[in-house]
Amino acid sequence: MPLQCGLIQVYTGDGKGKTTAALGLALRAAGHGLRVHIVQFMKGWPEYGELRSVTFLPTVTLRQHGRKGFVHPKKPLPQDYEMARKALEDARQSMLGGEIDIIILDEINNALDMGLVGLPEMLELLEEKPAHVELVLTGRGAPAQLLERADLVTEMRCIKHPFQRKVEARRGIEY
Ligand code: ATP
Ligand code: MG
Repeated sequence: MPLQCGLIQVYTGDGKGKTTAALGLALRAAGHGLRVHIVQFMKGWPEYGELRSVTFLPTVTLRQHGRKGFVHPKKPLPQDYEMARKALEDARQSMLGGEIDIIILDEINNALDMGLVGLPEMLELLEEKPAHVELVLTGRGAPAQLLERADLVTEMRCIKHPFQRKVEARRGIEY
């Protein structure tokens, strides 16, 4: 059964848990047979565990739109803009195609913050959202206008992170 009332959720802030909260939601939704599409902005590294996990979930798909390296916040490359544009187009097509119940736009907030995606384009996408589709937008630095427009906003606040004492990203925990 499709979603009765699709809303807009934002997970932002500087603490850990934004992407994993969205993945947790995908896991829960898959248990009800809901169809979830995860669009990852600025991610192209093939080692993320979720790339493999989704192959076990028949109603969940994931597409990465990014390079392997990090995007420089002040000096993105021309291909970073192009990949972000394709990611947004992927999200739009999934949203309007009638086949997907929940779309997760992972790290879109960072892409907005860095100017890889324009805020007017983003707000336009939100205006086009069909009533039965849920959108989940993750990433640091979500702009104020997005927070205003969203139905649910959660801020992950960093109180402590092992990175601060030089513990490197761990397989299965951070990726
Ligand atoms: P996760 O993917 O673990 O849910 P996230 O989506 O909240 O984390 P991002 O802002 O996307 O985190 O950051 C990317 C990477 O940085 C992740 O591997 C994450 O675990 C790590 N990270 C998150 N918060 C912090 C922090 N406060 N300090 C250092 N690294 C962090
Ligand atoms: Mg994240």
